[in-house]
Amino acid sequence: MSTVKAKPLSGRTTAPIIKTGRAWAELDRAALRHNIETLKALLPDGCELMPAVKANAYGHGSVLIARELNSMGVSSFCVATAKEGAELRRGGIRGLILILGYTHPEEFPLLGRWQLTQTVVDYDYAKLLNGSGEKYSVHIGVDTGMHRLGERCEDIDAICGIFMMENLSVDGIYTHLCSGDSRRPEDVQYTIAQGRSFYRLIAQLKSRGFTCPKVHILNSGGLLNFPELAGDYARVGIALYGTMGTRTETESCGSELRPVMSIKARVALVKDLHPGEGAGYGLAFVAERETKIAVLTIGYADGLPRSLSCGVGSVLIHGQKAPVIGRICMDQTLIDVTSVSDASAGDIAVIIGESGNERISACDMAEQAGTITNEIFSRLGERLERIMV
Ligand SMILES: *Cc1c(COP(=O)(O)O)cnc(C)c1O
Repeated sequence: MSTVKAKPLSGRTTAPIIKTGRAWAELDRAALRHNIETLKALLPDGCELMPAVKANAYGHGSVLIARELNSMGVSSFCVATAKEGAELRRGGIRGLILILGYTHPEEFPLLGRWQLTQTVVDYDYAKLLNGSGEKYSVHIGVDTGMHRLGERCEDIDAICGIFMMENLSVDGIYTHLCSGDSRRPEDVQYTIAQGRSFYRLIAQLKSRGFTCPKVHILNSGGLLNFPELAGDYARVGIALYGTMGTRTETESCGSELRPVMSIKARVALVKDLHPGEGAGYGLAFVAERETKIAVLTIGYADGLPRSLSCGVGSVLIHGQKAPVIGRICMDQTLIDVTSVSDASAGDIAVIIGESGNERISACDMAEQAGTITNEIFSRLGERLERIMV
Protein backbone atom coordinates (compact mmCIF):
# COMPACT_ATOMS: atom_id res chain seq x y z
CA MET A 1 0.00 0.00 0.00
CA SER A 2 1.26 3.44 -0.83
CA THR A 3 2.32 5.65 2.03
CA VAL A 4 2.98 8.68 -0.13
CA LYS A 5 1.01 11.67 1.05
CA ALA A 6 -0.13 14.53 -1.12
CA LYS A 7 1.96 17.63 -0.60
CA PRO A 8 0.09 20.52 1.01
CA LEU A 9 -1.42 22.82 -1.61
CA SER A 10 0.14 25.88 -0.03
CA GLY A 11 3.55 24.68 -1.18
CA ARG A 12 2.52 25.29 -4.78
CA THR A 13 2.11 29.00 -4.53
CA THR A 14 5.84 29.63 -4.46
CA ALA A 15 6.72 27.13 -7.19
CA PRO A 16 7.74 28.91 -10.38
CA ILE A 17 5.64 28.27 -13.46
CA ILE A 18 8.00 26.52 -15.84
CA LYS A 19 7.10 27.42 -19.38
CA THR A 20 9.94 25.97 -21.36
CA GLY A 21 9.94 22.48 -19.99
CA ARG A 22 8.54 20.41 -22.79
CA ALA A 23 7.20 22.14 -25.89
CA TRP A 24 6.44 25.79 -26.32
CA ALA A 25 5.82 28.66 -28.72
CA GLU A 26 8.05 31.70 -28.36
CA LEU A 27 6.47 34.95 -29.43
CA ASP A 28 8.91 37.62 -30.54
CA ARG A 29 7.63 40.91 -29.14
CA ALA A 30 9.98 42.97 -31.32
CA ALA A 31 8.71 41.18 -34.44
CA LEU A 32 5.10 41.82 -33.45
CA ARG A 33 5.86 45.50 -32.92
CA HIS A 34 7.71 45.65 -36.23
CA ASN A 35 4.72 44.11 -38.02
CA ILE A 36 2.30 46.54 -36.40
CA GLU A 37 4.45 49.48 -37.49
CA THR A 38 4.88 48.03 -41.00
CA LEU A 39 1.16 47.48 -41.42
CA LYS A 40 0.28 50.88 -39.94
CA ALA A 41 2.52 52.53 -42.51
CA LEU A 42 0.44 50.87 -45.25
CA LEU A 43 -2.92 52.01 -43.90
CA PRO A 44 -4.89 54.36 -46.10
CA ASP A 45 -5.73 57.75 -44.60
CA GLY A 46 -8.18 57.58 -41.73
CA CYS A 47 -7.96 53.81 -41.49
CA GLU A 48 -6.95 52.05 -38.29
CA LEU A 49 -5.94 48.49 -37.51
CA MET A 50 -8.52 46.08 -36.18
CA PRO A 51 -6.33 43.02 -35.64
CA ALA A 52 -8.00 39.64 -36.03
CA VAL A 53 -7.24 37.73 -32.83
CA LYS A 54 -9.75 34.95 -33.45
CA ALA A 55 -8.85 31.29 -32.88
CA ASN A 56 -6.56 32.25 -30.00
CA ALA A 57 -4.85 34.88 -32.16
CA TYR A 58 -4.15 32.30 -34.87
CA GLY A 59 -2.75 30.04 -32.19
CA HIS A 60 -0.40 32.69 -30.78
CA GLY A 61 -2.39 33.31 -27.58
CA SER A 62 -5.16 35.88 -27.85
CA VAL A 63 -4.81 37.61 -24.48
CA LEU A 64 -1.02 37.70 -24.73
CA ILE A 65 -1.16 39.24 -28.20
CA ALA A 66 -4.07 41.60 -27.54
CA ARG A 67 -2.47 42.92 -24.34
CA GLU A 68 0.68 43.73 -26.23
CA LEU A 69 -1.36 45.47 -28.94
CA ASN A 70 -3.42 47.36 -26.35
CA SER A 71 -0.15 48.64 -24.88
CA MET A 72 0.87 49.83 -28.36
CA GLY A 73 -2.33 51.84 -28.64
CA VAL A 74 -4.35 49.38 -30.73
CA SER A 75 -7.91 49.63 -29.48
CA SER A 76 -10.05 47.60 -31.90
CA PHE A 77 -10.06 43.84 -32.32
CA CYS A 78 -12.06 41.21 -34.11
CA VAL A 79 -12.74 37.64 -33.03
CA ALA A 80 -14.86 34.82 -34.42
CA THR A 81 -17.03 33.98 -31.42
CA ALA A 82 -18.67 35.54 -28.38
CA LYS A 83 -16.64 33.32 -26.05
CA GLU A 84 -13.43 34.53 -27.65
CA GLY A 85 -14.57 38.09 -27.02
CA ALA A 86 -15.42 37.31 -23.40
CA GLU A 87 -12.00 35.74 -22.91
CA LEU A 88 -10.30 38.91 -24.11
CA ARG A 89 -12.37 41.05 -21.71
CA ARG A 90 -11.57 38.72 -18.81
CA GLY A 91 -7.93 39.18 -19.79
CA GLY A 92 -8.38 42.94 -19.39
CA ILE A 93 -8.53 43.93 -23.06
CA ARG A 94 -10.05 47.37 -23.68
CA GLY A 95 -11.60 48.86 -26.78
CA LEU A 96 -13.91 47.62 -29.51
CA ILE A 97 -14.29 43.87 -29.87
CA LEU A 98 -16.22 42.85 -32.98
CA ILE A 99 -17.51 39.30 -33.31
CA LEU A 100 -17.21 38.35 -36.98
CA GLY A 101 -19.17 35.12 -36.75
CA TYR A 102 -22.59 33.82 -35.77
CA THR A 103 -23.61 33.98 -32.12
CA HIS A 104 -26.42 31.67 -31.04
CA PRO A 105 -29.26 33.32 -29.07
CA GLU A 106 -28.22 31.30 -26.03
CA GLU A 107 -25.01 33.33 -26.00
CA PHE A 108 -26.64 36.74 -26.55
CA PRO A 109 -26.21 37.57 -22.82
CA LEU A 110 -22.44 37.52 -23.35
CA LEU A 111 -22.76 40.47 -25.74
CA GLY A 112 -24.09 42.90 -23.15
CA ARG A 113 -22.15 41.50 -20.27
CA TRP A 114 -18.78 41.90 -21.98
CA GLN A 115 -19.64 44.84 -24.25
CA LEU A 116 -19.07 42.98 -27.47
CA THR A 117 -20.18 44.19 -30.89
CA GLN A 118 -22.00 41.54 -32.92
CA THR A 119 -21.97 41.07 -36.68
CA VAL A 120 -25.44 40.93 -38.18
CA VAL A 121 -25.00 37.97 -40.53
CA ASP A 122 -28.20 38.65 -42.50
CA TYR A 123 -31.63 40.28 -42.24
CA ASP A 124 -33.30 37.37 -40.41
CA TYR A 125 -30.50 37.28 -37.88
CA ALA A 126 -30.95 41.02 -37.29
CA LYS A 127 -34.64 40.41 -36.53
CA LEU A 128 -33.71 37.69 -34.06
CA LEU A 129 -31.20 39.91 -32.30
CA ASN A 130 -33.53 42.91 -32.33
CA GLY A 131 -36.36 40.86 -30.87
CA SER A 132 -34.45 39.41 -27.96
CA GLY A 133 -35.29 42.26 -25.61
CA GLU A 134 -31.88 43.91 -25.17
CA LYS A 135 -30.06 46.65 -27.00
CA TYR A 136 -27.01 45.63 -29.02
CA SER A 137 -24.13 47.29 -30.79
CA VAL A 138 -23.77 45.72 -34.23
CA HIS A 139 -21.86 45.92 -37.49
CA ILE A 140 -23.80 44.79 -40.55
CA GLY A 141 -22.05 42.11 -42.58
CA VAL A 142 -22.61 42.60 -46.30
CA ASP A 143 -22.07 39.92 -48.93
CA THR A 144 -20.39 41.39 -52.01
CA GLY A 145 -19.48 38.08 -53.62
CA MET A 146 -17.87 35.69 -51.17
CA HIS A 147 -21.30 34.23 -50.48
CA ARG A 148 -20.51 33.29 -46.91
CA LEU A 149 -21.87 35.52 -44.13
CA GLY A 150 -23.57 38.83 -44.81
CA GLU A 151 -26.79 40.20 -46.23
CA ARG A 152 -26.64 40.46 -50.03
CA CYS A 153 -25.47 43.91 -51.04
CA GLU A 154 -28.20 44.11 -53.73
CA ASP A 155 -30.81 43.80 -50.99
CA ILE A 156 -30.72 47.45 -50.05
CA ASP A 157 -34.25 47.41 -48.60
CA ALA A 158 -33.27 44.64 -46.20
CA ILE A 159 -30.14 46.53 -45.17
CA CYS A 160 -32.14 49.72 -44.59
CA GLY A 161 -34.54 47.59 -42.56
CA ILE A 162 -31.68 46.57 -40.28
CA PHE A 163 -30.73 50.22 -39.77
CA MET A 164 -34.29 50.93 -38.61
CA MET A 165 -34.45 48.17 -36.01
CA GLU A 166 -34.95 49.90 -32.71
CA ASN A 167 -32.81 47.67 -30.50
CA LEU A 168 -29.82 47.60 -32.80
CA SER A 169 -27.25 50.36 -32.80
CA VAL A 170 -25.56 50.05 -36.20
CA ASP A 171 -22.02 51.20 -35.50
CA GLY A 172 -20.48 49.79 -38.64
CA ILE A 173 -20.96 47.98 -41.92
CA TYR A 174 -18.44 45.78 -43.64
CA THR A 175 -17.75 43.21 -46.30
CA HIS A 176 -15.10 40.53 -46.74
CA LEU A 177 -12.84 39.91 -49.73
CA CYS A 178 -12.53 36.34 -50.92
CA SER A 179 -9.49 36.76 -53.18
CA GLY A 180 -7.75 39.85 -51.83
CA ASP A 181 -4.55 37.84 -51.36
CA SER A 182 -4.27 37.08 -55.09
CA ARG A 183 -2.82 39.13 -57.91
CA ARG A 184 -4.07 36.90 -60.71
CA PRO A 185 -5.84 39.19 -63.17
CA GLU A 186 -9.25 37.52 -62.78
CA ASP A 187 -8.98 37.69 -58.97
CA VAL A 188 -7.94 41.33 -59.12
CA GLN A 189 -11.03 42.05 -61.23
CA TYR A 190 -13.22 40.26 -58.71
CA THR A 191 -11.73 42.13 -55.74
CA ILE A 192 -12.20 45.47 -57.47
CA ALA A 193 -15.80 44.52 -58.24
CA GLN A 194 -16.38 43.64 -54.57
CA GLY A 195 -15.04 47.05 -53.55
CA ARG A 196 -17.24 48.79 -56.11
CA SER A 197 -20.38 46.96 -54.96
CA PHE A 198 -19.62 47.79 -51.36
CA TYR A 199 -19.06 51.51 -51.87
CA ARG A 200 -22.06 51.73 -54.19
CA LEU A 201 -24.15 50.34 -51.35
CA ILE A 202 -22.69 52.85 -48.89
CA ALA A 203 -23.58 55.68 -51.29
CA GLN A 204 -27.11 54.35 -51.74
CA LEU A 205 -27.56 54.11 -47.98
CA LYS A 206 -26.38 57.69 -47.63
CA SER A 207 -28.82 58.88 -50.27
CA ARG A 208 -31.59 57.24 -48.27
CA GLY A 209 -30.48 59.09 -45.17
CA PHE A 210 -28.57 56.31 -43.39
CA THR A 211 -25.04 57.20 -42.39
CA CYS A 212 -22.71 54.38 -41.57
CA PRO A 213 -20.45 55.33 -38.67
CA LYS A 214 -17.67 52.92 -39.69
CA VAL A 215 -17.11 51.04 -42.94
CA HIS A 216 -14.51 48.34 -43.49
CA ILE A 217 -13.42 45.92 -46.16
CA LEU A 218 -9.69 45.12 -45.93
CA ASN A 219 -8.13 41.95 -44.54
CA SER A 220 -4.39 41.16 -44.73
CA GLY A 221 -4.34 40.46 -48.46
CA GLY A 222 -6.60 43.44 -49.07
CA LEU A 223 -4.35 45.83 -47.17
CA LEU A 224 -1.19 44.56 -48.83
CA ASN A 225 -2.58 44.40 -52.38
CA PHE A 226 -5.51 46.83 -52.52
CA PRO A 227 -5.00 49.58 -49.92
CA GLU A 228 -7.00 51.92 -52.18
CA LEU A 229 -10.13 50.05 -51.07
CA ALA A 230 -9.65 52.07 -47.88
CA GLY A 231 -12.24 52.10 -45.07
CA ASP A 232 -12.15 52.97 -41.36
CA TYR A 233 -10.62 49.68 -40.24
CA ALA A 234 -8.31 47.04 -41.69
CA ARG A 235 -9.15 43.65 -40.19
CA VAL A 236 -5.64 42.27 -40.38
CA GLY A 237 -4.99 38.73 -39.18
CA ILE A 238 -2.34 36.53 -40.72
CA ALA A 239 -0.01 39.38 -41.77
CA LEU A 240 0.22 40.58 -38.19
CA TYR A 241 1.79 37.27 -37.26
CA GLY A 242 4.48 37.84 -39.87
CA THR A 243 3.58 35.70 -42.82
CA MET A 244 0.88 35.15 -45.39
CA GLY A 245 -0.99 31.91 -46.02
CA THR A 246 1.43 30.61 -48.64
CA ARG A 247 5.02 31.15 -49.70
CA THR A 248 4.00 32.83 -52.95
CA GLU A 249 1.83 35.39 -51.15
CA THR A 250 4.45 35.93 -48.47
CA GLU A 251 7.14 36.55 -51.08
CA SER A 252 4.96 38.74 -53.27
CA CYS A 253 3.47 41.01 -50.63
CA GLY A 254 4.44 40.10 -47.10
CA SER A 255 8.21 39.96 -47.31
CA GLU A 256 8.78 42.94 -44.99
CA LEU A 257 6.96 41.18 -42.19
CA ARG A 258 8.78 39.23 -39.50
CA PRO A 259 7.55 35.89 -38.15
CA VAL A 260 6.32 36.29 -34.58
CA MET A 261 6.26 32.64 -33.53
CA SER A 262 8.94 30.01 -33.10
CA ILE A 263 8.04 26.53 -31.89
CA LYS A 264 10.48 24.53 -29.79
CA ALA A 265 10.56 21.18 -28.02
CA ARG A 266 12.94 19.22 -25.82
CA VAL A 267 14.83 16.07 -26.60
CA ALA A 268 13.70 13.49 -24.01
CA LEU A 269 16.41 11.00 -24.88
CA VAL A 270 18.72 9.80 -27.64
CA LYS A 271 19.16 6.15 -28.52
CA ASP A 272 20.90 3.96 -31.07
CA LEU A 273 19.00 1.68 -33.41
CA HIS A 274 20.71 -1.29 -34.99
CA PRO A 275 20.11 -2.25 -38.61
CA GLY A 276 16.74 -3.93 -39.02
CA GLU A 277 15.18 -2.42 -35.88
CA GLY A 278 11.97 -0.46 -36.31
CA ALA A 279 10.67 2.52 -34.35
CA GLY A 280 7.34 4.09 -33.49
CA TYR A 281 3.77 2.95 -34.15
CA GLY A 282 3.52 0.31 -36.83
CA LEU A 283 7.33 0.32 -36.94
CA ALA A 284 6.89 2.60 -39.94
CA PHE A 285 10.59 3.44 -39.72
CA VAL A 286 13.15 0.66 -40.00
CA ALA A 287 16.85 1.41 -39.55
CA GLU A 288 18.95 0.40 -42.53
CA ARG A 289 22.24 1.13 -40.79
CA GLU A 290 23.37 2.12 -37.30
CA THR A 291 21.03 5.04 -36.60
CA LYS A 292 20.89 7.57 -33.78
CA ILE A 293 17.38 8.78 -33.05
CA ALA A 294 16.06 11.44 -30.67
CA VAL A 295 12.62 11.47 -29.08
CA LEU A 296 11.08 14.95 -29.06
CA THR A 297 8.48 16.01 -26.51
CA ILE A 298 5.97 17.32 -29.02
CA GLY A 299 3.31 15.50 -31.01
CA TYR A 300 0.20 15.98 -33.04
CA ALA A 301 -1.79 16.94 -29.93
CA ASP A 302 0.47 20.00 -29.81
CA GLY A 303 -0.39 20.81 -33.40
CA LEU A 304 2.46 19.17 -35.29
CA PRO A 305 0.63 17.82 -38.35
CA ARG A 306 0.73 14.01 -38.46
CA SER A 307 1.13 14.29 -42.22
CA LEU A 308 4.77 15.31 -41.58
CA SER A 309 5.52 11.73 -40.47
CA CYS A 310 8.04 9.46 -42.17
CA GLY A 311 10.49 12.00 -43.53
CA VAL A 312 8.01 14.52 -44.89
CA GLY A 313 8.92 17.04 -42.20
CA SER A 314 12.13 17.86 -40.39
CA VAL A 315 13.25 19.90 -37.39
CA LEU A 316 16.43 21.78 -36.51
CA ILE A 317 18.84 20.76 -33.82
CA HIS A 318 22.25 22.36 -33.22
CA GLY A 319 21.77 24.26 -36.46
CA GLN A 320 21.27 21.09 -38.50
CA LYS A 321 18.24 19.59 -40.17
CA ALA A 322 16.99 16.31 -38.74
CA PRO A 323 14.17 14.48 -40.53
CA VAL A 324 11.08 13.18 -38.78
CA ILE A 325 11.13 9.38 -38.84
CA GLY A 326 8.23 7.00 -38.30
CA ARG A 327 4.77 8.18 -37.39
CA ILE A 328 4.32 11.30 -35.32
CA CYS A 329 2.63 10.34 -32.03
CA MET A 330 0.16 12.30 -29.93
CA ASP A 331 2.83 13.47 -27.49
CA GLN A 332 6.17 12.54 -29.07
CA THR A 333 8.00 12.66 -32.37
CA LEU A 334 11.06 10.67 -33.45
CA ILE A 335 13.82 12.32 -35.46
CA ASP A 336 16.98 10.98 -37.07
CA VAL A 337 20.05 12.61 -35.51
CA THR A 338 22.67 10.24 -36.91
CA SER A 339 24.43 13.13 -38.63
CA VAL A 340 23.96 15.60 -35.77
CA SER A 341 27.20 15.51 -33.82
CA ASP A 342 26.23 16.08 -30.20
CA ALA A 343 22.48 15.65 -29.81
CA SER A 344 21.57 14.72 -26.26
CA ALA A 345 18.73 14.65 -23.74
CA GLY A 346 17.52 18.10 -22.72
CA ASP A 347 18.53 19.72 -26.01
CA ILE A 348 16.10 22.08 -27.67
CA ALA A 349 14.81 21.24 -31.15
CA VAL A 350 13.35 23.98 -33.32
CA ILE A 351 10.15 22.98 -35.08
CA ILE A 352 9.45 26.38 -36.62
CA GLY A 353 12.10 29.07 -36.45
CA GLU A 354 15.88 29.46 -36.69
CA SER A 355 18.82 27.46 -35.45
CA GLY A 356 22.32 28.43 -36.52
CA ASN A 357 22.10 29.29 -40.20
CA GLU A 358 19.11 27.07 -40.81
CA ARG A 359 15.48 28.08 -40.74
CA ILE A 360 12.13 26.33 -41.03
CA SER A 361 9.30 28.75 -41.70
CA ALA A 362 5.60 28.31 -41.12
CA CYS A 363 5.32 28.35 -44.94
CA ASP A 364 7.74 25.41 -45.17
CA MET A 365 5.69 23.41 -42.73
CA ALA A 366 2.39 24.39 -44.35
CA GLU A 367 3.69 23.30 -47.76
CA GLN A 368 4.88 19.96 -46.40
CA ALA A 369 1.53 19.41 -44.72
CA GLY A 370 -0.42 20.47 -47.81
CA THR A 371 -2.14 23.42 -46.14
CA ILE A 372 -1.76 27.14 -45.37
CA THR A 373 0.05 28.77 -42.45
CA ASN A 374 -3.29 29.90 -40.98
CA GLU A 375 -4.28 26.29 -40.40
CA ILE A 376 -0.89 25.28 -38.96
CA PHE A 377 -1.06 28.15 -36.45
CA SER A 378 -4.69 27.89 -35.47
CA ARG A 379 -4.47 24.16 -34.80
CA LEU A 380 -1.61 24.48 -32.31
CA GLY A 381 -2.57 22.66 -29.14
CA GLU A 382 -3.59 24.24 -25.88
CA ARG A 383 -0.82 22.27 -24.20
CA LEU A 384 1.87 24.19 -26.06
CA GLU A 385 2.99 26.98 -23.73
CA ARG A 386 3.04 30.47 -25.21
CA ILE A 387 5.69 32.84 -23.99
CA MET A 388 6.47 36.38 -25.10
CA VAL A 389 10.21 36.96 -25.37
C1 LIG B 1 -10.41 36.03 -40.43
C2 LIG B 1 -11.01 37.24 -40.99
C3 LIG B 1 -10.23 38.37 -41.24
C4 LIG B 1 -8.72 38.35 -41.13
O1 LIG B 1 -8.22 37.72 -42.29
P1 LIG B 1 -6.66 37.63 -42.65
O2 LIG B 1 -6.65 37.13 -44.04
O3 LIG B 1 -6.05 36.68 -41.68
O4 LIG B 1 -6.11 38.99 -42.51
C5 LIG B 1 -10.86 39.52 -41.63
N1 LIG B 1 -12.20 39.55 -41.81
C6 LIG B 1 -12.98 38.47 -41.63
C7 LIG B 1 -14.45 38.58 -41.85
C8 LIG B 1 -12.42 37.28 -41.22
O5 LIG B 1 -13.20 36.20 -41.05
